Amino acid sequence: MSSETEAPDHEDIRHESLYHSDGDWVIFAPISAGGHMIFRVHKFLLCHHSPIFSDLLTLPQGAEEMREMYDGVPALHLTDPAKDLAFLLDVLYDPSALPYEALDPYTPILVRGILSLATKYFISSLRRRIVQQLQKDWPTTLNEWDTLEGHIVAWSPPDPENPMNIWLDGSFPEPASAISISRRFDIPQLLPAAFYHLSRLTVEQDWDHYRDSDFTDQFYHDMIEHKGRSARWRLLGRDDLICLLKGKDTIKKHLEVFENSFSSGNKRCREKDSDCSNKIRGIVKRIIRISEESRDPLATFKEYGKIPEFGHSEDPEYEDQVCFSCSRNMKRRMGEWRCDFWDNISDVFNLPTSRKAR
Ligand SMILES: [Zn+2]
Repeated sequence: MSSETEAPDHEDIRHESLYHSDGDWVIFAPISAGGHMIFRVHKFLLCHHSPIFSDLLTLPQGAEEMREMYDGVPALHLTDPAKDLAFLLDVLYDPSALPYEALDPYTPILVRGILSLATKYFISSLRRRIVQQLQKDWPTTLNEWDTLEGHIVAWSPPDPENPMNIWLDGSFPEPASAISISRRFDIPQLLPAAFYHLSRLTVEQDWDHYRDSDFTDQFYHDMIEHKGRSARWRLLGRDDLICLLKGKDTIKKHLEVFENSFSSGNKRCREKDSDCSNKIRGIVKRIIRISEESRDPLATFKEYGKIPEFGHSEDPEYEDQVCFSCSRNMKRRMGEWRCDFWDNISDVFNLPTSRKAR
């Protein structure tokens, strides 16, 4: 078509800030409510970032006459949602427009549309940047995991007067949306930490349910007093749930192996005549039970690895004290268990591997 449209259709709207009068291309994109959003942009910018746009916006020799025109420049119709395209163009014109707050549980939801377009149009620098941001929220090493968990334990509401701002749950990453975006856009490095965190939650700890609830006693109990966490369970697929179940079973088996490894006793025990080995087995049993109740062996093992040496503690909880050697041996093995577990966490949940090193 060589005809030039002089005025937009009544359902078509020129974008307020992304209709540049000196732009050399116009792009139409559908608005969900009907009609189109019209963008007027600079070809150079799009072609610079995207080989796909470069192809789309390059007219074959002699084809200019055939091109649809709008407001004096060539026009292109895309099927991408206008709001996603607006977001993409915003970020291409101004990279600081990419919304990102560290550890924000809304990040995977907010960036999904723009990540989809960055992937579709091969805008690799933007895709890389979004992936890096997502990855910062989901540790790939045990040290990073422990650091993040330390922040969570130490967290207190930044604004206790604001009832919507006193949930820990609203201040740290949510696992199901991370798993969903990771699967959809092939970002496997998010999965291990997200699945481990998910394995600590029950299906009652549901993001939407908590936010639909009135401020009931139960709600306060779970979310405020217990600094509860939740997941957007509805975003998970069948395969994700199978990985989760497999992971939970495997964690249980790993804990059993750990417990059984103490059956042979400690050759360096300094109190061989006493009941040291039996006491150690009792302590390990108790730690395993606490790990299963908390559904968080990484945290439980870390906590028990920090307490004063058994036999040197004034704490009556450790009245069943054991010799220094047995205590040190047990703590060393708890530390090794954590490292081994993290190194094998992709296998635990049957996930694609992508990460290394701790
Ligand atoms: Zn001993």
